[in-house]
Amino acid sequence: IERFAGQQAMREAPERGAPHQGLMLILSSPSGAGKTTLTRMLLQTKELDLTLSISVTTRLRRSSEIDGIHYTFIDRRQFETLRDAGELLEWAEVHGNLYGTPRAPVAAVLGRGRDVLFDIDYQGTQQVRQNSGADVVTVFILPPSMKELRARLERRAEDSPESIAKRLANAREDILRWAEYDYVLVNHDLQDTFDDLCCILTAERRRKTRVREGIEALVKELLEESAIKPA
Ligand code: 5GP
Repeated sequence: IERFAGQQAMREAPERGAPHQGLMLILSSPSGAGKTTLTRMLLQTKELDLTLSISVTTRLRRSSEIDGIHYTFIDRRQFETLRDAGELLEWAEVHGNLYGTPRAPVAAVLGRGRDVLFDIDYQGTQQVRQNSGADVVTVFILPPSMKELRARLERRAEDSPESIAKRLANAREDILRWAEYDYVLVNHDLQDTFDDLCCILTAERRRKTRVREGIEALVKELLEESAIKPA
C-alpha cells in the first residue's frame, strides 16, 4: 500500500489552489470491481484529505471488518428507527441487506470545508444527487471483464457462495447504471485507476463554482494592486 501513497498523489496535493467548498465524491461499482480497495487507497493518502462516510448496515460483519470503521453494524429495527427519524441522507436495499448514510456526520465534515468520500450503490447515488445537486461528483468503476469480476469476488473469500452468486447476478443491473455517473473508469490496473481518481478529484476541486469565494478575494487584491501606479 505504501507505493500507492507515492509521488503521483503528492503531485496532486490539493493545497496549491484556493480553498474550496467541501464536495461529495461518490464511488459506485458492481461488487468486486475494486472499489473497496480504491477507497482504502484514497483514504490512506493523507494529502488527499478525504473523510469516509461510514454507512450503517444490517449486513453481517465480515471477519476483516471493524464495527465503526468500515460500517456501523446494526439490526433491522435500529435501521428502521434511524430511517424513519429522517437521520439518513439516503438508504437502499442491496443484495438483500439495508445500507444507509447517516446525515449528521456528512454535514459536519462538509461544514468544515472538507470533502466526503462515499462508497454507495446507484440507488443511494440518485438520492444524494437529488438532495445535494452541484456538490456531488460521481464516479462509476467497471471491471475489465466478468471473468475478472468473478475472480475478485472469489479471491476475497469472505462471502458465502450464495452471497457471491447473488452479487454476480446483481452485477448486471449495477453495470447498466454507468451512464448516470459523471465519470467512468475501467479498473484494468489499481494504480492507474487510483491515479485517475486523484486527477478527477483535483480537477473537481478547482471548479470555479467551488473556489469562487477565494478567487474573488484574490482577484480583488490583484485589481487593487494593479491600480497602484509604480513610483
Ligand atoms: P458490501 O456488502 O460489499 O460492503 O456492499 C454492498 C454494496 O452496498 C456496495 O455496492 C456498496 O457500495 C453499497 N453500499 C454500502 N454502503 C451503502 C450505503 O450507505 N448506501 C447505499 N445506497 N449503498 C451502500
